[in-house]
Amino acid sequence: MGAMKEFVKSLFLTELFKGLSLTGRYFFARKITVQYPEEKTPQGFRFRGLHALRRYPNGEERCISCKLCEAVCPALAITIEGEQREDGSRRTTRYDIDLTKCIFCGFCEEACPVDAIVETHIFEYHGETRGDLHYTKQMLLANGDRYESVIAKNRALDAPYR
Ligand code: SF4
Ligand code: SF4
Repeated sequence: MGAMKEFVKSLFLTELFKGLSLTGRYFFARKITVQYPEEKTPQGFRFRGLHALRRYPNGEERCISCKLCEAVCPALAITIEGEQREDGSRRTTRYDIDLTKCIFCGFCEEACPVDAIVETHIFEYHGETRGDLHYTKQMLLANGDRYESVIAKNRALDAPYR
C-alpha cells in the first residue's frame, strides 16, 4: 500500500509542487533581509560595543584609578597605572584596553563606581593590525568625548536596571 502511495505521489509530482508552493510563498512574502550598511537593525540601549572613558561636564576625567575594572576583567584585557595628584586625587597615567582580548562582558562598566569606563553603542570599528585594537587612555577619552551625548542617554535609560 505504501509503495502504491509513493508511486501515485511521484506520478503527479506532488513533492515538486509542494516545494514550488513554499518557494512561491516566500517569494511574495515581506522581505526581512536588512541591506546593511544602508539599513540597520534596532539596537538596545544596553548594547555593549566599543569602550570609552567619560569625563564630568567640567572636563575632568571621571576615572579615579581604583583599578576595580582591571581586577574584574576576566580576559585580563585592561592595564592601568595610576598616581596621586598634588591635590590628593588619584588619576590614571595609563589606561589600556586590548580589544583583541576583550569578550565584551560588560563587567568593567558594572564594577566602575564613577561611571567612567563604559561600552558604547559603536560596533563599526576595525583594526588592520593587532596594534590597532590596542586602545590607549587618550583613544578611550576621545571616544567618550565624541559619544558622550548618546552614552549619557543610554545610561539614563539603563539606570532603573542597575
Ligand atoms: S568588557 Fe569584559 S572582557 Fe572587555 S574589558 Fe570589560 S571586563 Fe574586560
Ligand atoms: S574606570 Fe572606573 S573602575 Fe576602572 S579604574 Fe577607573 S574608576 Fe576604577
